Amino acid sequence: MSRVYNFSAGPSVLPESVLERAASEMLDCNGSGQSVMEMSHRSKEFDAIIKGTEQKLRQVLNIPDNYKVLFVQGGASSQFAMVPLNLMNKSGKADFVISGQWAKKAYTEAARYGQANIVASSADKTFSYIPELDSSKFDPEADYFHVCWNNTIYGTHFNEIPDVGNVPLVADMSSCILSEKIDISKFGVIYAGAQKNMAPAGLTVVIIREDLIGNARDITPTMFNYKTHADNDSLYNTPPTYCIYMLGLVLDWIINDIGGIEKMHEQNVKKAAMLYDFLDNSKMFNATVQGKDRSLMNVPFVTGNDELDKKFVKAAADAGFVNLKGHRSVGGMRASIYNAMPVEGVEKLVAFMKDFEEKNS
Ligand SMILES: *Cc1c(COP(=O)(O)O)cnc(C)c1O
Repeated sequence: MSRVYNFSAGPSVLPESVLERAASEMLDCNGSGQSVMEMSHRSKEFDAIIKGTEQKLRQVLNIPDNYKVLFVQGGASSQFAMVPLNLMNKSGKADFVISGQWAKKAYTEAARYGQANIVASSADKTFSYIPELDSSKFDPEADYFHVCWNNTIYGTHFNEIPDVGNVPLVADMSSCILSEKIDISKFGVIYAGAQKNMAPAGLTVVIIREDLIGNARDITPTMFNYKTHADNDSLYNTPPTYCIYMLGLVLDWIINDIGGIEKMHEQNVKKAAMLYDFLDNSKMFNATVQGKDRSLMNVPFVTGNDELDKKFVKAAADAGFVNLKGHRSVGGMRASIYNAMPVEGVEKLVAFMKDFEEKNS
């Protein structure tokens, strides 16, 4: 068996020890004589799994007691509708920061349900920075204020929590959840598709302040109402059971192997610094994002020459560094270095890039 270093933006690399444990428990999980895939979601075996996963998520992210954790489906993309259906119900207005394509999709979807206002945008420079926020443009009557915390495609990340007063702050954290400590109490809703930093595709995690549950519009489909999932401990219907189990294993790995969220963050800072330092000193490769807005998770870079970019992506894949092609809207390359990418994977990528630069300049 030979494994590659996988820099995919999502679905993405999972910790090898987690995959090994899942494999060892595949036919018989915890002496149940069954695979988790085969278990009833109403069984006592699965009840222990879902409760355990929630408890570990609460521990790792230090989630306050007045927040619910919901395990739902439909991806972060369904949250673009679920948030307005549940929250856009008082003034019917919401504020948006357009920091990338996902943020824009959240805005476009919300605009179908109410008055969506753009308070800032970085579209003018292909979303290569986080726009400055001018609080005089914020609507104090907004039902929520939406941000995309880490812009997966463009490699930018918020590093300051906007001061939105009493307006609930809603954040799409799909590509940075579990990568750093966050003060959950500053947010009304945090949501994330699992396939970047948490688990296989199919699970979406919603962390929501309790008072924001129970005010959905009448037309809200039952499955899109947060209350449905909150009242039923995410077991109203069949949840993505195997993904919830896998998230539990990933959380065990963060707690036991890494040593918690702070240690996880330290490791992410170290990995990202190695790559950015190389890019900043390279004559061939350039990072597309500068300064404080740089993401620790997604690192886009270019050579400025499409042919050379292609040659690099191919040579890298041949050498076992896969999925480095950039998003079509940015071009060039992107290395997604999520939690599960080992330090050694980034070290070896940098060594490969140095070598490629020497041989091709
Ligand atoms: C991947 C991603 C999405 C889309 O997630 P789906 O689960 O495919 O719907 C939304 N927002 C961000 C920030 C992402 O990285």
